[in-house]
Amino acid sequence: MSRQDRILIVDDEPEVRAFFRDVAEGLHFQVFEAGNQTEFEEAIGKDNPAVIILDLTLPNTDGIVLLRDLADRKCTADVILTSGQDARVLTTAQRLGRGFGLKMGPILPKPVAVDELESVLERVRSGAASITADTLGRAIDEEELVLHYQPKVSLQANGDFPIIGSEALVRWQHPTRGLVPPGAFIPLAEDCGLIGRLTEVVLRRAIAQLVAWKDQGIAIPVSVNLSPKQLTDMTLPDRIAEALALAGLDPALLVVEITEQAAMQDIDKATDILTRLRLKKIAISLDDFGVGYSSLIKLYQMPLSELKFDRSLIVDVDEDADARTFVKALVALAHGLKLPICVEGVETLTTAEFLQSLKCQHAQGFHFSKPLPPEDFFDLVKGRRARPAAAAEPQSSAPTAAPMALYRTASLAQ
Ligand code: C2E
Ligand code: MG
Ligand code: MG
Repeated sequence: MSRQDRILIVDDEPEVRAFFRDVAEGLHFQVFEAGNQTEFEEAIGKDNPAVIILDLTLPNTDGIVLLRDLADRKCTADVILTSGQDARVLTTAQRLGRGFGLKMGPILPKPVAVDELESVLERVRSGAASITADTLGRAIDEEELVLHYQPKVSLQANGDFPIIGSEALVRWQHPTRGLVPPGAFIPLAEDCGLIGRLTEVVLRRAIAQLVAWKDQGIAIPVSVNLSPKQLTDMTLPDRIAEALALAGLDPALLVVEITEQAAMQDIDKATDILTRLRLKKIAISLDDFGVGYSSLIKLYQMPLSELKFDRSLIVDVDEDADARTFVKALVALAHGLKLPICVEGVETLTTAEFLQSLKCQHAQGFHFSKPLPPEDFFDLVKGRRARPAAAAEPQSSAPTAAPMALYRTASLAQ
């Protein structure tokens, strides 16, 4: 049996270990067990497991101590945390483990179902959970991160949806796995201190793309996502403004997207940074509005240029009258605050028309187009897109985009 198939189960309850053993052996894993810290240390020393299932609650110690021990040993195994505690304790511990540089797999809240455990073990074995701080750091250095651009359209032209902007969304062009979506590596980048470098790359690429498009005759603003950590970096406004000036670009071509949660973490610092960005003519969009916690009272005190409604707000509006009432109320709030709205995740014409009837200004979504590689985005803008949007991102099963005849846009030189 190869190392790939060696699994260590760390749990103080013999019957739980027996359950994990049965399922793992059913998948042809070679199973080792530890019921306490001493047995754990022995097993790590001699059994060389590729996968570790680790219970967070152990007698006389706890899972975090053992995670730290694994990190000290530079352990390369995939670690799957399990516990009967609140799932939030598990995700926090998972994040800590990532921060220690460990390969953290999915979490398993107890009680664990057989099929759930089987699916997690299969995924880990197939390598789906093995992105580490090291491999991601190398990918950033080797320029494997690429940007795709999702059109942002206007809802204000009758029956037509001209492209008025784009959102840059990062992907990892992995040498063996193909295109890896941001959800698979942004949380890791945030936990292990790589998000600053990642954002530098994203900003640099987005600015270079703006220059390239300007040279090709189109000027369409690009929105870039910032992560919460960046809203405490007081040098950010100057660095972004300098990069734009150096590239000879109008600052209005760059929009910065932040999340509610990020802005609320250190509201004073965030307001300082955001105000200075606005003074430098860079627009601020509040992303994912409507999810997570929101301190509505702070909302109108921030120097925002736009509210981006999260997809979860509008996902049911085609069928559900209550969902429509809710969206109407939020739209009225934004209108009252004179904040333009961009609605994300529009997948049907019915939704687009409903939002038009409410006088929402902008939208993004698979109904208009999926995120596209830059060449395809350019072709779409120029009305000569060669291939359907759905082909660009094979990992998703979303509906195809509307026909390209729908798109018109302002350009520098047609
Ligand atoms: P986001 O900024 O809210 O981006 C919108 C996400 O919704 C994108 O997912 C986009 O592909 C997806 N989407 C757009 N229209 C539709 C639709 O009609 N239906 C559905 N189901 N989905 C739609 P993506 O590209 O996977 O990005 C996920 C998240 O990853 C982003 O959410 C953002 O929070 C983060 N992200 C992406 N790029 C970056 C980056 O460069 N830096 C940082 N810090 N975060 C990034
Ligand atoms: Mg965004
Ligand atoms: Mg969003």
